[in-house]
Amino acid sequence: MLHLYSFLDRFRLLRKSYIAKIMLVAFLGTHVPLLALLLSFVISSAYSWEMAIRVLVTALVATLIGTAATLYALRHLLNPVLLTSAALQNYLDTKKLPELPTHFVDEAGLLMANTSHTLYRLDELIHYISSYDDLTGLANRDLFCDRLYQMSQVQNHSGLTAVLVLGIDDFVGISHTRQRETTKLLLRAIAQRLITCLPQTNSFAKLDGDEFAIALTEISSLESVIKQSQLLLSTLAKPFLIENSLIHVTSSIGITINHFEDRNGIAQLLQQAQAALHTAKQRGRSQYQFYSPEITAQLQERLTLENELHGALERNEMEVHYQPLVNLQTGEITATEALLRWKHPTLGLVSPTKFIPIAESSGLIVSLGEWVLRTACAQNRAWQLAGFPPLRISVNLSARQFEQPNLVEQIKQILVETGLQPCYLELEVTESSLMVDIKQSIETLEQLRELGVFLALDDFGTGYSSLNYLKQFPVDMLKIDRSFVQDVPFNPDSIAVTNAIIALGKSLQLKITAEGLETQEQLNYLRMQGCHEGQGFYFSRPAPAETITQLLKTNFLLETSFLVKTNFQ
Ligand code: C2E
Ligand code: MG
Ligand code: MG
Repeated sequence: MLHLYSFLDRFRLLRKSYIAKIMLVAFLGTHVPLLALLLSFVISSAYSWEMAIRVLVTALVATLIGTAATLYALRHLLNPVLLTSAALQNYLDTKKLPELPTHFVDEAGLLMANTSHTLYRLDELIHYISSYDDLTGLANRDLFCDRLYQMSQVQNHSGLTAVLVLGIDDFVGISHTRQRETTKLLLRAIAQRLITCLPQTNSFAKLDGDEFAIALTEISSLESVIKQSQLLLSTLAKPFLIENSLIHVTSSIGITINHFEDRNGIAQLLQQAQAALHTAKQRGRSQYQFYSPEITAQLQERLTLENELHGALERNEMEVHYQPLVNLQTGEITATEALLRWKHPTLGLVSPTKFIPIAESSGLIVSLGEWVLRTACAQNRAWQLAGFPPLRISVNLSARQFEQPNLVEQIKQILVETGLQPCYLELEVTESSLMVDIKQSIETLEQLRELGVFLALDDFGTGYSSLNYLKQFPVDMLKIDRSFVQDVPFNPDSIAVTNAIIALGKSLQLKITAEGLETQEQLNYLRMQGCHEGQGFYFSRPAPAETITQLLKTNFLLETSFLVKTNFQ
């Protein structure tokens, strides 16, 4: 279809002008009669020179006038195409919508009308996409800020504005354990439910992920904001029926109250409310938290750490330290726990309690955890090859790692790679990570058990400690959390909890380890109660592999001093 057009496009002079192409063709076309006449004079000798020149001059003048008129008319007839082209270019450059006529019905008329119609539709769509959340149909962050700003301009806005950011608690956990489609439906249902308890729906927006923003303008009192927040939290706490199954969620809210001068001020309020939400979530479920400047400082620190945590492994900033677990009856070291350490170039040693939650929420824990597993298994094998009696190596598994579908395969592979027998690997999980999806957890634990690895419930007593679930989880060991051990044997409550855990463990035929053992009194008491193993600064702090190697060499000495210290003999 474009043969002639492409042919003419080959000529450099014609390339940039469509008019020039049309004009050239028209020019040549209108000169055909003249050329034919000229040819007939040349090949025929029947005409006299005088007559031939007269006819030719007349034909030439007529042709030139005809050509000029044709070219002029054509130039104007081409205007619809040229106008449309200019309108499109203008829209691309300036986003200005064209004003093309739409009442002509021939092809050129339709070209103008359809271009105009398409550009208007496209513009609407672009506006919608850039202003609304496609999942919920709610306004997005930009439109929320625009609307709030417009409201502040139109009304005689003098009062304070409260900006609330609501987030779903443990949304990562919820979405990990459900189909993508279910999570989408849940978010839509949450949006719908929130609408029902809001005073104005035009100051409600969906932010990224699971967060929603709500603006309360002209607020009368702090109490009214708290009341509204509590209403939102309790509304979402009722279960959602999604695809025939009930889903329970809780949410948290970050609140900031302030004046704002301009659009930047609104964006800042949103950031403050998000920072407050972060703190609310850290405090537990169904919480609301007002913003304070310290919150931003904390969040800033966290974000910096998160950035630096990326690549820390590659920069060799990670190290595994080991802490012995000791048999409380014989004093022998029976295992070592692998504990991750981050040697930060400027901050020094960063505590895992600080960076593990960051690694967990950013997903980095999966690669870090795999590295710890491999390093720890290899180290344990190295101790065995060095001739030490075989010990268990205990490795902490985070909730995220535990949810990885290839976890069992990965562990199997690491054991093969490092040559460690499965019975010398102990995996520590917490109850909270098992509770995310109980059925799946039991299945994974059973597969790990089949593999022959030893399974321990870490920090026992601080989580759900549900007896019903405990008997279903195929674990070998309970580790009594340090918070109970530290007050033994002087605090009656800690004694009661510790005794109960030991009795529970015994009745379920589980081994019991006491974490955080620091004093002789604690040791005596726990030993007396029949606790099997202990771990704590009393025996050794977590230390690099070389230090533990020295300790293993003196294990016999430790045993003797232990026996002397505890008066076992
Ligand atoms: P955890 O698994 O309960 O580890 C025991 C923690 O108690 C360690 O803290 C250890 O240094 C500390 N501890 C041991 N004995 C005593 C004592 O006598 N007194 C006191 N005050 N503390 C004692 P650490 O190394 O700071 O680790 C904290 C937590 O970070 C660990 O608690 C574990 O939950 C997590 N973590 C550490 N390494 C890893 C890892 O490689 N992967 C995962 N997922 N989590 C890890
Ligand atoms: Mg542990
Ligand atoms: Mg623990």
